[in-house]
Amino acid sequence: MLENSPITASVETLQAILNAIPNPVFLKDRQHRLVVVNDAMCALMGQTREQMLAQGDEPLPGEQRDVFWRIDDLVFESGQQHDNEEVLTDGSGSLRVILTRKRLIHLPTRDGEQPFIVAVISDITRIRESEARTLYLAEHDTLTGLANRSQLDERLRATIAAAASSGHQAALLMLDIDRFKDVNDQYGHPVGDQLLSIVAKRLVGLVRPTDTVARLGGDEFCIVQGGLHQPSGAYSLAQRILTAIARPISIGSLSVSVTTSIGIAIFPDDGTTPEALLKNADDALYAVKRGGRHGCRRAEGVAEPHGAPAWNIESDLREALKNGQLSLAFQPLAAAADGKTRGFEALVRWQHPTRGAIQPQEFIPVAESCGLIHELGAWMLREACAAAQKWPWPLQVAINVSPVQLESRELLMHVRDALASSGLPASRLELEVTESALLDHSGHVMEMFSQLKALGVSLALDDFGAGWSSLATLHSFQFDRIKIDQRFISHIESDARAVAIVRAVLSLAQTLNVPVTAEGIEDKAQFLALRKMGCTELQGFYLGAPQAQAKLPDALPWLPPAAAPEKR
Ligand code: C2E
Ligand code: MG
Ligand code: MG
Repeated sequence: MLENSPITASVETLQAILNAIPNPVFLKDRQHRLVVVNDAMCALMGQTREQMLAQGDEPLPGEQRDVFWRIDDLVFESGQQHDNEEVLTDGSGSLRVILTRKRLIHLPTRDGEQPFIVAVISDITRIRESEARTLYLAEHDTLTGLANRSQLDERLRATIAAAASSGHQAALLMLDIDRFKDVNDQYGHPVGDQLLSIVAKRLVGLVRPTDTVARLGGDEFCIVQGGLHQPSGAYSLAQRILTAIARPISIGSLSVSVTTSIGIAIFPDDGTTPEALLKNADDALYAVKRGGRHGCRRAEGVAEPHGAPAWNIESDLREALKNGQLSLAFQPLAAAADGKTRGFEALVRWQHPTRGAIQPQEFIPVAESCGLIHELGAWMLREACAAAQKWPWPLQVAINVSPVQLESRELLMHVRDALASSGLPASRLELEVTESALLDHSGHVMEMFSQLKALGVSLALDDFGAGWSSLATLHSFQFDRIKIDQRFISHIESDARAVAIVRAVLSLAQTLNVPVTAEGIEDKAQFLALRKMGCTELQGFYLGAPQAQAKLPDALPWLPPAAAPEKR
């Protein structure tokens, strides 16, 4: 104790001491009321001491306040110190990652000694950002942003474990570019590097979000495909890769054509460990090389299927377009501020007469590689504009446009026709394009963007955030909206790296004055976190799943009561 100290503490003394501490500090009583805040705390929140003491935790979203109060109760009851990491919007509207350390103290009051919580905040935003960056670099290939060898190992192990427990199969595809050395020799390494980046983007566009694409070094790539029902799924992916990589690649004024060779190993038949699968896929790859390149084969000793997979998606898709097997689903896009529906994204659906529902991720890449995407895209534009024109509300409709469509001038004609035949004003149409469109054919695509903008339609950048490098693409064109890829959203509560990426996108978007949509919100916690972080618009199953036109509600807003913004 301070028996020898000349100090007799008063509230003013306490306040003066706390004000001298650079960290934000506050004291709370057993009723969760703020009773003391220091200057640093007021500065952090951009409020005066009087405002802070009067409002307490009032301005916080309900969910967050519940969490804080539960922690307060725990500290009061257990007497133990508690550290909690939180994401917080400071007084200037910036997001901060903070660590709040709470401890119990007893102080003399007018009513005798009472328990209080003293909380000290440390700003760890920079630490978390630099950790996220280090982690990212440790797991990714810097040239392409793909997984590197160490992440591949991890993902391969996890995929094998998941396949083993679910009774499914998994495939490892190993590929390399035929005569890549010639490209480097003929055009130089910078062109070689750009080619590898474009190949990487094309590969990412062909797989499901749950699959892994990795670059092992040089021109060697690997794909881990999980949840396979039969080996034909891997052959079908390999066929799509062969077609997609063979499409000419524009680099500056050059047009380069390359082919690829692919070796396939299937778990469990061709190996049950990562090492065995990697070796067998590699052997198969070299067998393709020996056999003349540009092809795929499975590990030695395994019966090969006869050529391509038994199911020909391409011819069935052609039929589907003619026979009305395709339809549209509409998913709401809600404004974060008031939860009102701002528009709907149109998504294509295919009900196959014998195979049931086929996922867009399965047939869109096939449509892209065989050219059917132009016809499919035109159909989507026509149908979606006509549907939107019939809505009782003047909302926007968003339609996905494939990078392949952007390469052709037909797209402009299809957009004009769809607007003219439906009578939908251009301002109600938004086109969603993915980042890969920008990397592939920049000059040409920029010209197309400008012409589309000149028609009066808006442009959104979809599935944004494949890699840190992609932040640069935001500067390349003035998009009307950015949609953050759902893979970050699904980890937003648990993964500081996802938080850091979303923060980075939001702050850049703020500078560029572009609204940001968070995709794939599946629960209330994600919804609250993203709204708090400053996303302007939200989309996901939590706010509404894609629905057929006939099932859209008669009256807006769409927002389910549970998701409605808190009333205060
Ligand atoms: P996208 O444009 O990013 O569309 C969002 C996808 O996420 C949709 O999948 C949607 O059903 C799904 N989704 C929405 N909310 C959630 C959620 O909360 N959780 C999860 N896990 N998923 C959610 P869908 O319909 O399977 O489409 C997949 C992709 O296929 C689309 O991704 C888009 O790139 C492409 N696609 C769909 N329709 C078309 C089309 O008409 N033309 C073109 N070119 N591509 C299309
Ligand atoms: Mg989309
Ligand atoms: Mg998307």
